[in-house]
Amino acid sequence: MPAASTPTLRRRPSEVVAVIGAGASGTLVAAHLLRASQRGWRVILVDRESHARGAAYSTRDPRHRLNVAAGRMSAFDDDPDDFVRWCRARGRATGEHDYEPRQIYGDYLRGLLERFASPGELELVRNRVVSVTRGGERQPLTVAFRDGRSLRADAAVVAIGNDRGHRPDGDRYLTQRRGGVPGCDDPRHLTPRSAAVCSER
Ligand SMILES: Cc1cc2nc3c(=O)[nH]c(=O)nc-3n(C[C@H](O)[C@H](O)[C@H](O)COP(=O)(O)OP(=O)(O)OC[C@H]3O[C@@H](n4cnc5c(N)ncnc54)[C@H](O)[C@@H]3O)c2cc1C
Repeated sequence: MPAASTPTLRRRPSEVVAVIGAGASGTLVAAHLLRASQRGWRVILVDRESHARGAAYSTRDPRHRLNVAAGRMSAFDDDPDDFVRWCRARGRATGEHDYEPRQIYGDYLRGLLERFASPGELELVRNRVVSVTRGGERQPLTVAFRDGRSLRADAAVVAIGNDRGHRPDGDRYLTQRRGGVPGCDDPRHLTPRSAAVCSER
């Protein structure tokens, strides 16, 4: 019997789900689908850029910290210690109240895909989606890419963020320069000026 909080998915064998956008939202959807499904479900995770990073976790600057404590960043509400455990298993002295670098969380998201995908269940596609259309009722969806290629899917999840073409890198996201907690952009420590910068997105 699956745990009560684990959704049981009804699906045809080899049903294809296209997840468009592989930031935190799309990656978590893909990971949950893979975790909940038995073999046979295929997830195609598409991003025009790198997978499992998105707006918040694409930074490579270790001074850019999560603004939510590690104990609240698990991908699974039925396993709230998952992220902390994952960090510790990699030699980090992470406590539930610590604010880990955002790039580490991107590594965690990426690791979820590897953890839950059985061979053949997950395909990572790097391309820009321009449309999702359905030929007719009960017809599969066509996901079309900018380069003219396309794929068929039985279902699609659109998780493309708010797409302001903005990557929050650079020193302006460091509160340590404004007298906050070193390397942490916890909103509790943001100055009015830095809070305004964050809301520009
Ligand atoms: C500086 C900063 C710090 C943050 N810190 C935290 C934190 O500590 N904890 C927390 O919980 N949240 C945090 N957030 C909020 C966090 O960004 C969001 O919760 C989450 O990352 C949003 O993810 P998303 O997948 O919805 O969107 P995005 O991260 O924007 O991902 C969308 C993805 O879709 C792709 N995409 C867009 N259009 C297309 C297309 N046409 N075809 C293919 N791919 C496409 C993009 O390339 C991108 O990878 C932070 C946000 C910022 C900006």
